Formats: sequence, C-alpha cells, structure tokens
Amino acid sequence: MVIHTAKFLLSSPSFDKCPVANKPEYAFIGRSNVGKSSLINMLTGQKNLAKTSSTPGKTQLINHFLIESSNVKKQKQQWYLVDLPGYGYAKRSQTDRRRWEQMIENYLRKRPNLVQVMVLIDSRHTPQKNDLAFVNDLDKWEVPFSLVFTKADKEKPAVVQKNVQLFLDALKATWQFLPQVFITSAEKKTGREELLEFFEQNNLR
Ligand code: GDP
Repeated sequence: MVIHTAKFLLSSPSFDKCPVANKPEYAFIGRSNVGKSSLINMLTGQKNLAKTSSTPGKTQLINHFLIESSNVKKQKQQWYLVDLPGYGYAKRSQTDRRRWEQMIENYLRKRPNLVQVMVLIDSRHTPQKNDLAFVNDLDKWEVPFSLVFTKADKEKPAVVQKNVQLFLDALKATWQFLPQVFITSAEKKTGREELLEFFEQNNLR
C-alpha cells in the first residue's frame, strides 16, 4: 500500500457522532504514552498528523483521519484511520474513567465498518495488567484486533522478543487463538511495510 494523502477529518465525543460508516476503518488504542501518535505519524508519513501528547488524557475524543492510498494493483482506496483516547492515566477521575469505558465499548462494539483494532503495547515492559485486561475485553466483545509492540528501538531485540512472548503466554492461558503481532519503531520506521500491507489485504476483503 502506498499512502497518498492523510487528513484529519473529525473529532467525535461519542460513537453516534462519528462520520458516516461508509469506509473501512482501523482504530489505534493503547496506554498513555505508548507511542500512538508517533506511530500514526510514522505510518502516514506526516510529522504532526496525530498530536504527540504533552497533556495525556485531557481530551477524550474519537479522532478520524481520512486516508487515500493505492494498492499493489494501483487501485485507489479510501479508509479511515482512527485515533482512540487511551487508558491508564493515573490522574483521570472516576467519572472520566467511566465515561471513557462507555465511549470505547460503544464504539468498539457498534461501529459497523471497524475492520480491526490495533492495540499498542510498549515493547520495553513485561505484560501490564491494564493491557491484558483491555485485550481480554476485546476478546469478550468479539472485536477483531492485532497487537502492535512499540518503541522496539529502545531495547535489545532479545528483550523485545521476550516481552512479546510473555504477553502471548499470558493470553495462551485462556485463549485458543492468538492475535497477529507487529513489532514497530516510529523512530526507525520498523514495521511500517508490514502494517500497511496488512491494512491493504484486509481492506480488500
Ligand atoms: P502517545 O501518548 O501514545 O500518543 O505517545 P507519543 O507518540 O506522544 O510518544 C510518547 C513518547 O515516546 C514521546 O516522547 C515519543 O518521542 C516517544 N516515542 C514514541 N515512539 C517511539 C519510538 O518508536 N522510539 C523511540 N525511541 N521513542 C518513541
């Protein structure tokens, strides 16, 4: 897939305010500071499309970006890339947390054009409780997702591999099928080709 243009379209406070669901869509989510904005900017080839967060968790909006790309057969494709507000902000109030949960659950369970959720996990850490809990919710809701490990340049490859394996092991305990895994670095553009190819293949389904 070659991305031609990527434009910010709309910020929505709730599922029902999102743009008309007439294009395939991929949503990105993860813990605060996981590297979501950096990854979105790296994938779309734009420096400031998604804002790297200086005040994490302040706004809880669903951000839609319209992507125009072409596939290997040079056919034009249009799709939405969605930046979802993340989880794991220590300072978020109970009320805000509940509002986030409701908004995210509604969006993930009801959005008809949602192809996959890309769950971002910081590759420097061993499995974190809130990441595992979120992924287990997706499984319970039957929402298709992939795991995208971020910041791979910050650790030795063996450490990254070990953390990925530990995460999969934690899921294996209860799951029959394991999700697809991508290892990325926004800094080194690692994983860009793999992710874009994955979007292209799923778009064509
Ligand atoms: P967000 O809160 O999930 O959107 O995270 P950001 O994209 O704002 O990134 C959080 C911090 O991690 C920033 O200081 C980024 O520069 C840094 N960061 C993000 N991705 C990478 C990466 O792939 N490699 C390195 N070395 N740093 C990264």
